[in-house]
Amino acid sequence: MTEHGHEQVVLVADAASGLRAVIAIHSTALGPALGGIRFWRYPSDEDALCDALALSEAMTWKAALAGLDQGGGKAVVLVADPDAPHPADLLRALGRAIDELGGRYLAAEDVGASTADMDAIAAVTPWVTGVRESAGGSGDPSPVTAWGVLHSMRATLRALDGPDATLADQRVAIQGAGKVGGHLAGLLAAENAQVAVADTNRDRADTVAARVGAHAVGVDAILEQECDVLAPCALGGVLDANTVPRLACRAVCGAANNQLAGRGVDELLAGRGIVHVPDFVAGAGGIINIAEEFHGYSRARALARAATIEQTTAAVLERSRAEGATPERVALALARERVARDGAGRRWRPGDPTAWTNGEPLRSLRPAGTVIER
Ligand code: NAD
Repeated sequence: MTEHGHEQVVLVADAASGLRAVIAIHSTALGPALGGIRFWRYPSDEDALCDALALSEAMTWKAALAGLDQGGGKAVVLVADPDAPHPADLLRALGRAIDELGGRYLAAEDVGASTADMDAIAAVTPWVTGVRESAGGSGDPSPVTAWGVLHSMRATLRALDGPDATLADQRVAIQGAGKVGGHLAGLLAAENAQVAVADTNRDRADTVAARVGAHAVGVDAILEQECDVLAPCALGGVLDANTVPRLACRAVCGAANNQLAGRGVDELLAGRGIVHVPDFVAGAGGIINIAEEFHGYSRARALARAATIEQTTAAVLERSRAEGATPERVALALARERVARDGAGRRWRPGDPTAWTNGEPLRSLRPAGTVIER
């Protein structure tokens, strides 16, 4: 926490429901910490804690670079089977723990979570986003995340091949055929790209491939797939000293958070001449979508704002080329500059105003009159 500047970490246990979770708040300098809830099977408690720390920090940089007035946070829930439905009493216990933070952490969907989970959590706390649209929420963010990745890829291909480059006939390998990967496959197919897709759940890969006219490949083959762009849309840590030498792509651009397994992997990629778009740039569509919820949600506005990831990607890659620094370093420097400039060492406390409440204290994310069972 000290090394990376985390403000707060909460460990949560509820014996009755079996809930075990970590809520990590990296920074509230720009506003309440926003980030998804991940349900995952972790090998150890320490793995879960480290994941929450790394993911929450990445959310700070993601929000900062997307120009949002939010901080970075993340919750991870330790579960035995990430694909199994989450019991109602466990979601309520998690919601109560989020509620106790008074708005310092605003929850959202992440791997293993659904809009229905957000709805269940919203019954006990107003500090959750991504509830169903009919209840004033923004629903599933993944179509907007995929839209942002698509635009980031456009800028990446232009950086590689010049101003006339398009997605048509480009070979894109997608790792993970889940919510984001599935939508991305459809968007790319509509642009006449040649799409290959893999998922540890083979049925999921086959279904997406059949739906969009893509090619399903094995999970071990996807990283070595000869392609123009590799799009990691599964879990983090996929790029390391073992996998980078095996890559057969010209660029990496995907939504999976924390793709680089450690320090120096960005240099390995650069050494192989592979352009790596930082995940906190390419994958910002989801958080952009959620932030629209605070202004009265409009999917059209969310998509338009997510499309600006194309300009952000172009700016990062151009500065990377000009300075001879990796895109990761450049993007991190830009994000840190924004937090230092606009956050000025602040720490957001329950009841404080936010940039989007025009100086009024933030009391709830739900429309007035919504019943919360505390
Ligand atoms: P998801 O759970 O719907 O999909 C992930 C998929 O990856 C699953 O189908 C899973 O079976 C598969 N998978 C796991 N390990 C794999 C492996 N080794 N090889 C191939 N497939 C594997 O999750 P999602 O919402 O689509 O998110 C995907 C990634 O994008 C995550 O890292 C998430 O944090 C990130 N992300 C998601 C959003 C969003 O809007 N959902 C926004 C920003 C970032």
